[in-house]
Amino acid sequence: MTGFGPKMPPYSELAPGVRRIVAPNPSMMTGPGTNTYLFGDDEVAVLDPGPVIESHVEKIQQIADAPIRWILATHTHPDHSPAAALLAGETGAELLGMPAGEGPHQDATFEPDRVLEDGDELVTDEFVIAAVHTPGHASNHFCYRHAQTNWVFTGDHVIDGSTVVIDPPDGNMSHYLQSLRRVKDLGCDAIAPGHGEIINDPDRAIDWIIDHRLEREAKVAAALAANPNLTARELVPHVYTDVDKTLYGWAERSLLAHLLKLEDDGAAKCAAERWVGA
Ligand SMILES: [Zn+2]
Repeated sequence: MTGFGPKMPPYSELAPGVRRIVAPNPSMMTGPGTNTYLFGDDEVAVLDPGPVIESHVEKIQQIADAPIRWILATHTHPDHSPAAALLAGETGAELLGMPAGEGPHQDATFEPDRVLEDGDELVTDEFVIAAVHTPGHASNHFCYRHAQTNWVFTGDHVIDGSTVVIDPPDGNMSHYLQSLRRVKDLGCDAIAPGHGEIINDPDRAIDWIIDHRLEREAKVAAALAANPNLTARELVPHVYTDVDKTLYGWAERSLLAHLLKLEDDGAAKCAAERWVGA
């Protein structure tokens, strides 16, 4: 993913009352950087302020150019929510989302003032945003449907041009596939992801992800049948033949997610970390 350069504008006006600022944290895992979205012109809600980067937090406030009343997080991974506490401290904004789950790669500093549940709405004079609980990538992941555009803001549930890591136990492949179908059923007009550009054909994008995951699952099942009694780590080269070795650590996490789903489905068994088909 490219395009993050000196010519990049400070923000993009995507639709009336919807602006995007890209955090300066580009990487292999974050693409051009984390997308921070601003809703509203007179009173602003900020979605995913990103990691703690002071220049970015200043930019959010400059570009908002109005009181920031609400800060939403899609989930509490380190590239999405850690700036929320800082921004709330500077603005007095209310934090909305779900606290961090257990385990590594979680931002425990995110302490919501309003703990969201599926279906909760943020209703303001300018916009309505509905929270859709989408566990899978993270157990506390929410997508947000913006009523005025009929766009869904998907965080790391659906991103542009890549797949996301499902890292058990907080990540769960069965839940992830269910949550993908859930978002597809919303019938939105576009997806605004946590990384990358707007996705204008949501059905096609979601179908591609589901197909890709099920193809990978089939590869895992075939590898298990051909190579019984291997550990997840030992199975990686048999399944991720298309993935660079430097990514094997993440591939192993995703592979484990697939194995656990197969176990849930009654198609695999594990004893002493060694896996066989069932
Ligand atoms: Zn994430």
